[in-house]
Amino acid sequence: MLGNIVFFLKDEGYGFILGKNKIRYYFNIHNIYYSSPKENDEVLFTPKPRTSLKLSPTAENIHLVKPSNKHLSASQKLYGNTKKTQEKYIDLIKNTKVQCTKCGRYMIPYIIYRNDGLKRSICPFCGKTYKYFSPCFIATAVYKDHLANEVIALRRFRNEFLSTFFIGRIFIKLYYHYSPNLAKKIKNYKILQAILKPILNLVAYIYS
Ligand SMILES: [Zn+2]
Repeated sequence: MLGNIVFFLKDEGYGFILGKNKIRYYFNIHNIYYSSPKENDEVLFTPKPRTSLKLSPTAENIHLVKPSNKHLSASQKLYGNTKKTQEKYIDLIKNTKVQCTKCGRYMIPYIIYRNDGLKRSICPFCGKTYKYFSPCFIATAVYKDHLANEVIALRRFRNEFLSTFFIGRIFIKLYYHYSPNLAKKIKNYKILQAILKPILNLVAYIYS
């Protein structure tokens, strides 16, 4: 099927394609068969139906048909060229307003950047974290590559499953509090990697 890349989060290793049928397809960097994908690139891909109600259908075998030849991306055209307006656009595309779990207001999440990439998005009214973009420290320590298929699947598990309910969000908070130190330990102890890998493999398998 033909479609266009709507956005691609390079640091996270995934993005979405809008198919000609107006359906949005999730894709992962490993399914792209050309270098440096950008917004607006016209691509040919194999659509795969969704495997669960919670997830979007996915695009595989993505090949470039026509690179975006515009100097300005669609987002820049619509919303200007500053980082702030780009942030707004990213979440507009991700289906505009969402309800904040803390203050209950409908809002466009505000994205916070760390040095080189997206960190998390927050509610502009109350500051409550809406979504984490940070790396999975532990998964990266186990798989030794922050763009490994399993790491990308686990990130999806966090963003599309864990962050949708209360206990899951508490888990994410605790995870980000303790995992950087834990990840250091895991790097040094092969036995910890051996214990964690099958567990992570299972979750990644379900979510890939
Ligand atoms: Zn709020």
